Amino acid sequence: MSNLKVAIQKSGRLSEDSLRLFKECGIKFNNGAKKLKAQSSNFPIEFLFLRDDDIPGYVEDGIADIGIVGQNVHEEYQKQIEVVKHLGFSRCRLSLAVPREEKYSDISFFEGKNIATSYPNILKKFLDTKGITAEIHQISGSVEIAPGIGLAEGICDIVSSGSTLLSNGLKEVETVMKSEAVMVADSKLSDEKRVLLNQLIFRINSVLEGKNNKYVLLNAPNDSLDKIISLLPGMRSPTVLPLAQEGWSSIHSVINEDDFWENIEKLREAGAEGILVVPIEKMIK
Ligand code: ATP
Ligand code: ZN
Repeated sequence: MSNLKVAIQKSGRLSEDSLRLFKECGIKFNNGAKKLKAQSSNFPIEFLFLRDDDIPGYVEDGIADIGIVGQNVHEEYQKQIEVVKHLGFSRCRLSLAVPREEKYSDISFFEGKNIATSYPNILKKFLDTKGITAEIHQISGSVEIAPGIGLAEGICDIVSSGSTLLSNGLKEVETVMKSEAVMVADSKLSDEKRVLLNQLIFRINSVLEGKNNKYVLLNAPNDSLDKIISLLPGMRSPTVLPLAQEGWSSIHSVINEDDFWENIEKLREAGAEGILVVPIEKMIK
């Protein structure tokens, strides 16, 4: 059987989480330092370690079958490839920033100005939708120093906490796009490779679902069971087991991470006690 070839960033902000994801999917491989390739010992997958900017092109050309990149890189390179899965890590945004001392009221600030960025296509599209014409200077790194050296009046760059902007005397003024890591795939994959990709996505879904949910065990008096069951619908319905103590039950269920604290409060109000919350490694609905 031919291998599914997966392109992953060689070293950078996507690398560690990308590799962890495959490990959590039970895919074993040995990625020794400075290797360009690695072969899994228990799944027909081969890893190619590349610069993230090269990944969309390699996937389009079929050198790699799938890859992991930020949505920002995917959109910038505009290759004919498909996004097959949002992965939830490397969340960041692409933003416009200007020197802190500038008076900024709205996007018209940028009319006729020079803006430095590594994302000229995304920026151009954004400015077009806002009806702004600006001079876009493409530079490949250290964009944040451009205003300081007189190259541009503003920049468009990746921001997560904003600390890099701050330390370069800049302030964020507009969000151009939000980004997270995505899995992209060659749209011309063979049927055989599609099968492998679907198996991989099934595993990824079960890992991501597990992370988004918690297993909850609690004790409650029997007269509050109905209320508690309505708060904990679980996957199909919760498990209810009698406790040795008369009139009490133990309830086991699954709750979503997003609703966690609110739900716990409501459960306590409904009479639940002895609440245990346990991480879930994999979840298959
Ligand atoms: P390469 O050498 O592979 O070209 P790079 O310097 O272009 O690497 P990184 O800085 O490693 O890229 O970022 C890779 C991706 O991670 C970015 O395209 C973006 O999607 C995401 N990213 C960048 N900065 C952050 C951040 N501060 N927080 C979260 N995600 C980020
Ligand atoms: Zn890059």
